[in-house]
Amino acid sequence: MVKKTKGSGKYGARYGAPLKQKRQSVEDKQKKKYNCPLCLKQKVKRISSGIWHCKKCNVKFAGRAYSLRE
Ligand SMILES: [Zn+2]
Repeated sequence: MVKKTKGSGKYGARYGAPLKQKRQSVEDKQKKKYNCPLCLKQKVKRISSGIWHCKKCNVKFAGRAYSLRE
């Protein structure tokens, strides 16, 4: 299945672009604020993987790694 790796550098660059785009969209999602299930205000921010914090209630809670609900 694997052919001779002639010009592998070219393929490396080719794979680089879409991966970078995907990572960017994930970062956008992480920056996005979500509605708090307690106060219903859009004050929830992801502080680390699976941990969310509502600025309004000052409460931390667990959620999905990259988005609160899905
Ligand atoms: Zn809240």
